[in-house]
Amino acid sequence: MSFNVAIDGPAGAGKSTIAKKIAKQMGYIYIDTGAMYRAMALYFIQNGINAEESDKISTKCKEADITIQYQEGEQIVLLNGKNVNGLIRTEEVGKMASVSSVNKDVREKLVDLQQKLAATANVIMDGRDIGTCVLPNADVKIYLTASSYIRAKRRYEELMSKGERVEFDMIEKDIIERDHRDMTRELSPLKQAEDAILVDSSNMGIDEVVQKIISLCK
Ligand code: C5P
Repeated sequence: MSFNVAIDGPAGAGKSTIAKKIAKQMGYIYIDTGAMYRAMALYFIQNGINAEESDKISTKCKEADITIQYQEGEQIVLLNGKNVNGLIRTEEVGKMASVSSVNKDVREKLVDLQQKLAATANVIMDGRDIGTCVLPNADVKIYLTASSYIRAKRRYEELMSKGERVEFDMIEKDIIERDHRDMTRELSPLKQAEDAILVDSSNMGIDEVVQKIISLCK
């Protein structure tokens, strides 16, 4: 039986940074499900599909083969056989992912892939619907959040450090819009699972959160 840890929460709460560290310390495989929705979104953008064209999204998603591999512990997302890690971290792709992830066909395809991955190994998986939908029987469920101001600040600093020129107010507005879309969508909205433990990282350092979750796993 594999041991599964689910971490859900809004954009910029620190899920991936924290999950990666826990994976390393505990010897789990880290699965970033947002990267899969982003790779799918990239495919729609590359094919000139608009966010509103839900029929085209449903059809085109069938052509997008998303797989993941690991290179030196880092998750590599392959879109139709090509490594797209370097292309999916932009605001444009993030926005498209947030819109196209409401699509039922997109979700079914990616949830199936995520469940298969979790069945074969000890994993820590982060996303929006892991504890509520993808891994309802996960051994540990965490709902990681922080205030929208703090999350926007973190995302702003991350993007600036990668050389993306962005404005803080735009990032905060995007985060609030994305939260709203993720939390109010019909299919698998972002919410805390009943049996998830709430961790608010607004006033916590990364290592403090990591240690808290590791002690829960133990
Ligand atoms: O976490 P990240 O910002 O990379 O996710 C991009 C988008 O993908 C989110 O805004 C959300 O709409 C969608 N997503 C989702 N379910 C997941 C992971 C991400 O709907 N499990």
